Amino acid sequence: MKDEPAEGRISAVEAPDPHGVSQPVNWKDYRDHLATADQQGRRRWLYPKKPSGTWHTRRAWFAAVLIVVMFAGPWIRIQGNPLLMINIVERKFSILGQMFWPQDSILFAVAMLVFITGIIVFTTAFGRLWCGWACPQTIMMEMVFRKLEYLIDGDSAEQKALSDAPWTARKTARRLFKHAVFFGVSFIVGNTLFAYIVGSDQLLRIQLDDPRNHVTGLTFMILFSLLFYAIFARFREQACTFICPYGRFQSAALDENTMLVMYDRKRGESRAPWRKGESVSERAAQGHGDCVNCRQCVAVCPTGIDIRDGTQMECVNCTACIDACDQIMDRVGRPHGLIRFASQNSVEKGEPQRFTKRMLMYAVVLGALVTLFLTLVLTRAPVETTFLRAQGALYQPGPDGTIGNVYSVKVINKAHHDIPVEFVLEGVEGKIRVMGANPLVAPKESFVQTSVMVYLPKSVLTGSATRIKVGVFSGGKRLEGLGTTFAGPRNDE
Ligand code: SF4
Ligand code: SF4
Repeated sequence: MKDEPAEGRISAVEAPDPHGVSQPVNWKDYRDHLATADQQGRRRWLYPKKPSGTWHTRRAWFAAVLIVVMFAGPWIRIQGNPLLMINIVERKFSILGQMFWPQDSILFAVAMLVFITGIIVFTTAFGRLWCGWACPQTIMMEMVFRKLEYLIDGDSAEQKALSDAPWTARKTARRLFKHAVFFGVSFIVGNTLFAYIVGSDQLLRIQLDDPRNHVTGLTFMILFSLLFYAIFARFREQACTFICPYGRFQSAALDENTMLVMYDRKRGESRAPWRKGESVSERAAQGHGDCVNCRQCVAVCPTGIDIRDGTQMECVNCTACIDACDQIMDRVGRPHGLIRFASQNSVEKGEPQRFTKRMLMYAVVLGALVTLFLTLVLTRAPVETTFLRAQGALYQPGPDGTIGNVYSVKVINKAHHDIPVEFVLEGVEGKIRVMGANPLVAPKESFVQTSVMVYLPKSVLTGSATRIKVGVFSGGKRLEGLGTTFAGPRNDE
């Protein structure tokens, strides 16, 4: 096992300040490389200080709820169906206990539009709040793996000291222990993701059954565990910076009215250490603002940036810098909020937070899409039937001078209970005979296939392909109507 890279390593506390002490921001000096890479592009390993404070406590509670939901998700059942399941293998999907099939592709398309529009509205109003507060990657990294790391390796300074220390038996044992714990948690995370894909029942079968029967499943379990171990033990904040498309996309959605974690430059600049006993007026007389340049906001940042440089793509709105700065403001007797949730306009022009026309427009589109989605879900028939003339089959003479056609029928039952179905010709005289079990029963969350004979009197035929309509009924209730064609002799035959 290798230790963190020795070269290019940097403690967030030691990150160079491009502006120098107590200098106002000079935008020409602004960095032209990632905060976690040096000029040569080598990774700078971060050792963020343990965050604490009001915002962190709120975030920790919120994360705890999400973590419980996330891990319990595949095991929670609503009317017997998983809370969330995306079973790509069997092409079965469950959202909030509602089973969806590949035939529900329109619903999926609308759901995706709702999701994307929702993200745009949310990002326009609240920036990357999702990233810091609800994204599973950030939650697991900052609230689980980072906390385990603090427990095992200590806070920022101890972590850095341990990393710099020569390899001894003690260091090796601590490293082995930490990475074993990381792999164990990654295994649980990997299994949870796997349960979301194949379902919890299948996951249990793979875990408990003879391994020789589940080589593919076990391979994926190990691959998922290794993937999460690599992300949380090594890749970390790079996943948000390099891989996450939302991080890239958000810069297009932000504007000057978006709420973000902001440093109040007007109040903070110019920066200078606070001399003991120095009054606010003395400081102001020297042109100094409230920022005492302690760099605690940088020290706690899990992405290694200095929020005083302005809005940056790496910022995940985790609020750790707000807490750190508020604690410093308490110590120097200045009000909280030098770093706070605010829009650029509210910081620079003192404007109140407002709902802009752009946000309103997005919200209207989102409202319309949500309405469409709910309409589709609520009017969704519990069964979906395909009623197709059997391939290659010709019409045949039936009883009483009628003409018969054979059809292949498939009834998908999306409900949580078995549904007996019957077929009725609509708007035309004739008979339908279901082959095999009668009445036909579509088992819950599954489907049934059968053949059906349709007999029509010659008098109703309009040619070699007569359009007919078949109603699907259950218990006297019409579930859906289907159109199909009926083959018969041409008019001149
Ligand atoms: S924590 Fe606050 S006072 Fe300290 S450097 Fe950051 S912004 Fe300035
Ligand atoms: S700048 Fe502040 S809010 Fe943004 S990621 Fe760093 S600590 Fe979190």
